[in-house]
Amino acid sequence: MSEERRRRTIVIGHKNPDTDSIVSALSATYLYRARGIDAVSGAQGDPSPETAFVLKRFGLKAPEVVHSVEGREVYLVDYSDLAQAPDDFPKCRLLGIIDHHKLGDVTSDYPLECWIQPVGCSNTIVKLMYDYYKVEVPKDIAGAMLCAILSDTVLFRSPTCTPTDIRAAKELAAIAGVDDIEALGIEMFKAGSNLDASPRDLVFRDYKDFDMNGKKVGIGQLSLISLDLITPELKAQLAAELKEVKAEGRDTVLLVLTDIMKEGSELLMESDDADIVRGALKPDANGWMAGVMSRKKQVVPPLQLAFKA
Ligand code: MN
Ligand code: MN
Repeated sequence: MSEERRRRTIVIGHKNPDTDSIVSALSATYLYRARGIDAVSGAQGDPSPETAFVLKRFGLKAPEVVHSVEGREVYLVDYSDLAQAPDDFPKCRLLGIIDHHKLGDVTSDYPLECWIQPVGCSNTIVKLMYDYYKVEVPKDIAGAMLCAILSDTVLFRSPTCTPTDIRAAKELAAIAGVDDIEALGIEMFKAGSNLDASPRDLVFRDYKDFDMNGKKVGIGQLSLISLDLITPELKAQLAAELKEVKAEGRDTVLLVLTDIMKEGSELLMESDDADIVRGALKPDANGWMAGVMSRKKQVVPPLQLAFKA
């Protein structure tokens, strides 16, 4: 990387990047550039199988993998938590945030441009920004943004999904020339249901650490087209991996196995506070949580409350 490139403004998503964080880095960078801001996209990791499918399907290149933002101007997309940012984030200059999660704990030394809305996907907000600045969304980026919305809202089934997400998705589908939105989404989730990876990689594929009343709580989520894909052997391996991850200094580690078509999730856990977790998430005797699709809306808030009580 040249010194000049290192200095340029970077648009960067969260750790363990999902489709929304990688695509919003690309879509927001295009928009910032259209506004005359000399920005480049970054990602804190390689694309997951789901994201790789999306990029390939619409002919886009993955953002450069970047782990340091020291001395750079930075836009955050799809998060505002320090724990999700590059480790040397305090040494950067924050210019803006695009996000749809609870407000995190980053702060800034200068005025900043914030686009934070309680919608189902960061790319829905990016679409509102394109409309606001009257910038046309390119066809390839529109297709990827559509996929990000389908991913985050689980084909519009998640309780995080709003009419704004559905409207944005329909407009993006029209631009991208996608006739059957549901079919594209199922194809994407099938690609993302690839379990041909180590148990560790599966736990961390879509994983976040949270601070809950001083305790470190890690929550991974695997969204699959069917939980039948998880064999008893694999489930045992994942459970063993959770033990290891917990032993690395966490109070609790959860893996939420979401069945997209059955619209619910099975909970695997390793915890010093198992009663608190069970009381908050109320899994049945088999660990099944009917209707639970969203980590940010249905898992994190009840846990945070329970750990505070
Ligand atoms: Mn995300
Ligand atoms: Mn998101």
